[in-house]
Amino acid sequence: MSTIVISPDGKVVAENKVTYSFHVRDNRTGEVRLYEMGCEWFDHTVWFLTEGNFGCDCNRGESFARAGGISEEALDAMSDDDNDPFPCGHERYSIIDAVLSDGRVIRIDEQ
Ligand SMILES: [Zn+2]
Repeated sequence: MSTIVISPDGKVVAENKVTYSFHVRDNRTGEVRLYEMGCEWFDHTVWFLTEGNFGCDCNRGESFARAGGISEEALDAMSDDDNDPFPCGHERYSIIDAVLSDGRVIRIDEQ
């Protein structure tokens, strides 16, 4: 979602994009981490975080690991053809809410 400011002669003079982070919880331990997504927030982002790519534990687990400061090299080293540290599923991780750069907080898994 963006706020676009247009001058009287039709030029875009400012564009304020709303980005977001989300709180992701490892349901095995109860630990919650804030992951800085850095992407623009759209109305359909709720769908993306629940039914789309980030509705799955594989992406949520990677986000949880990154939010804990794990390096991309370490992430790469954790997974090979025989071992997937973040298998697909819908039990292990929950996204509690999305925290938008304009101050809004949107509940995701737990409405
Ligand atoms: Zn998956």
